[in-house]
Amino acid sequence: MGVNLNKIVLAIDIGGTFTKLGLVDPKGQIIASRIFKTGANEPFEIFKELFHTEIFRLISNINSENIVSAIGIGAPNANYKTGTMENPPNFNWGQTIPLKKVVQEMLNYPVYMTNDANAAALGALRFGVGKGMQNIVVLTLGTGLGSGIINEGKLIYGQYGMAGELGHVNVFPEGRQCNCGLKGCLETYVSVTGMKRTVFELLSNSNSASILRSYSFKDLTGKDISEAAHQKDGIALEAFKRTAKILGGKMADTVAHLEPEAFILTGGLSQAGDLFLKPLKNYMESALFNAYKGKVKVLLSKSTRTEAVLGPAALAWENILTKDNP
Ligand SMILES: [Zn+2]
Repeated sequence: MGVNLNKIVLAIDIGGTFTKLGLVDPKGQIIASRIFKTGANEPFEIFKELFHTEIFRLISNINSENIVSAIGIGAPNANYKTGTMENPPNFNWGQTIPLKKVVQEMLNYPVYMTNDANAAALGALRFGVGKGMQNIVVLTLGTGLGSGIINEGKLIYGQYGMAGELGHVNVFPEGRQCNCGLKGCLETYVSVTGMKRTVFELLSNSNSASILRSYSFKDLTGKDISEAAHQKDGIALEAFKRTAKILGGKMADTVAHLEPEAFILTGGLSQAGDLFLKPLKNYMESALFNAYKGKVKVLLSKSTRTEAVLGPAALAWENILTKDNP
């Protein structure tokens, strides 16, 4: 295939809390990695300096046999076509952040960048549970809800580079206020934050005893809700049920648009496992048009948090390999 096996890519995953860097080979082996606090609330200039230092520390691990071929970046609200992060929520870096340009000025390699959920979809396709599939939808259920759509083996970017934002499809007109300015977006219900909102709504509308009553909104985590549900806490179970019902319905809509072979779930909410997966599959099935029933898989991503760099690595590899073999 004309691929030098000593070739590696530099993969960068920028998250609201941590930034992860990795040197990754074509098989998805992470040769070296670094992790540091993003400092999303600090000015971008502070990040830039730390980023520079960490990248050069990582690159000092490269021996002379390895050749960096490209750089892949996954970041919140990153646009593949413009190379900028656009109004990323929870970041204090300004409205349009020219991240691709910043990296290009540091290192003279081709740089590819897309949003974190798109990168996760490419990672699942090349290295993860989506390997060998052609049509998948990856949902990242964390603080928000991100999505990446692979159609006929290709990531869908759309006309302007921002396709596949299922987190902001509408569930209820005049529903919960979303960070994006709209009301009733899917991620205000189906995300760790959305589930917390559901839990607090349920608690305030009932007198039933619940382990979750002892938490403040700020302290409650997705893991706490999962653990409560495993202990058969009524409020926690109801919160999972409602979340699964809303997501299942929207997944059925997505099937009507795309007919994927599988949905692949990743992120905090997916860690609840069968507790979430079983009702989710049932609700999705019950909302599916006849032609699709019993066909679409719902899978959990098996990659760990340290493997977050595999998404941006897959983005870089996809671009290199496409160019090597036009
Ligand atoms: Zn929204």
